[in-house]
Amino acid sequence: MYIGDINKAREWLEKAFSKTPNHLEGSILGSMTTMPHELGVEAFLRFIHINGNDPMVFPIVKEAEEIIVKGIGGLFDVEHGMYTSGGTESNIMALYVGRRVNKDKENTVVAPSSIHRSIDKACLLMGCKLVKIPVDPLKPVDPAILEEYIRLYKPFAVVVTAGTTEAGVIDPVKEAGELAEKYGVYLHVDAAYGGLLIPFLYRRGYITVDLRMFPGVSSLSVDMHKNGCAPIPSGLLFFSNRGFLEQACFDMEYMPLGKSCGLLGTRPGGAVVASAAVFMAMGIKGYEENAVKMMENSYYLYNGLKNIPELVVFKPILPINVFRSLRYSYIELFKVLAEKGVYVYKSPSLHALRVVVMPHVIREHLDKFINILKLIHGS
Ligand code: PLP
Repeated sequence: MYIGDINKAREWLEKAFSKTPNHLEGSILGSMTTMPHELGVEAFLRFIHINGNDPMVFPIVKEAEEIIVKGIGGLFDVEHGMYTSGGTESNIMALYVGRRVNKDKENTVVAPSSIHRSIDKACLLMGCKLVKIPVDPLKPVDPAILEEYIRLYKPFAVVVTAGTTEAGVIDPVKEAGELAEKYGVYLHVDAAYGGLLIPFLYRRGYITVDLRMFPGVSSLSVDMHKNGCAPIPSGLLFFSNRGFLEQACFDMEYMPLGKSCGLLGTRPGGAVVASAAVFMAMGIKGYEENAVKMMENSYYLYNGLKNIPELVVFKPILPINVFRSLRYSYIELFKVLAEKGVYVYKSPSLHALRVVVMPHVIREHLDKFINILKLIHGS
C-alpha cells in the first residue's frame, strides 16, 4: 500500500538510480540515445512546467521551435517544420500528411525492407498496406527496383531511410525524389538517425552522398535526441511546403490557438526549449565536430574488432558497428554481453549485433568492449 511517504519515495528513487546504467560509464553501446548536453538538462528542468502544446501561454515554445526549425532546417535547405517527440511520431505524422494530400492513390506505402519499425506501426495505425522491397541490409535500395514497385503498386507514399537503424545505410534520396516527382508520390525521408551526421560527414569527405530536401522530397525527419545531444523527447519533421505542414495540424477549439499540430496533446515544453538551448550552445560547428569524432571512433572500433579472429565485422557506413560471432549466435552473444553489464542492440536482418557510436562513447569504452569480446572468444 502507498501511504504517501516522501522519504520512502526518495529511497526508492535513490536505489533505482544507483542500479540504472549511465551513458558516461561506457556500458550503453547499442542505444541511439546519449547523455544530453548540460545546458539541455538545465533548460529542461527550468521549463519543466510548460506545455509544448500551448505556444500562446508559453511563447518561448514557439520561439524555441523557430530557432531549431530554422537552424537545423538550414542544413537541408528547408524552412517549414515542426517539433515532434522523435522519429516515431515524425514517421506517423509524415504518412498521415502523405495520405491527406494524396487521397486518390492506392492506400499503400512502398519502402525498402530496411525501414524502421515505426513505419510498420504507422501503417497499422492508419490501416494502410505496407509493401516492402526486399533489400540487402547493407545496401541502399536500387532506384530502378524502387521505380518498378511504384509502377506496380501505385502507392500514395514512399519511405526511404537516410541512416538505417540496423546498419546506417543511406538510401538514394535524390533519385527517390526524382521518382516521386515523376509519379506524383509523397516521399518521406526518415533521417531520424542520420540527419545530424550525413551533411557533415559528406562535407568532410567520409561519405559520398549528401542529404538535402532534394526536389520531390515531401518530408524529412531528424531526431535531436539522437545525435543532437538534446534531452528525450526531441525530434523534427520538415515539410517541403507550408501547406503540408498545415495538414499536420488539427482543430482544437478550446485551446488558446484553436489548433494543435502533431500527434501529441500536452507535451513537454521543456524539451523544446532544451533542444533550442543545446542547438544554440553547440551550433552547427559543434554538431559537425561530434559527427567527425563519432565516425573516427567507429573506425577505431572497427579496426579493434577486426583483430578478433572469431568475429565477422562489417565496415561502418555511419558510426554504427555491426558484427557477428562465429562461436555464438547473435542472440547468445547479446545475452552474454548483457550478463557482463554491456548493452548492445541487435541487427536481426544481419543476424548480428550493433554498437552505435554516440556522442558519449569514448575510446576507453571501446577498448574495454574490445577486451570483453576478446575474453569471451578466448583470444
Ligand atoms: N527512424 C529511424 C531510422 C530510427 O533509427 C529510429 C530509432 O532508432 C526511429 C525512426 C524511431 O525513433 P524514436 O525511437 O525516437 O521514436
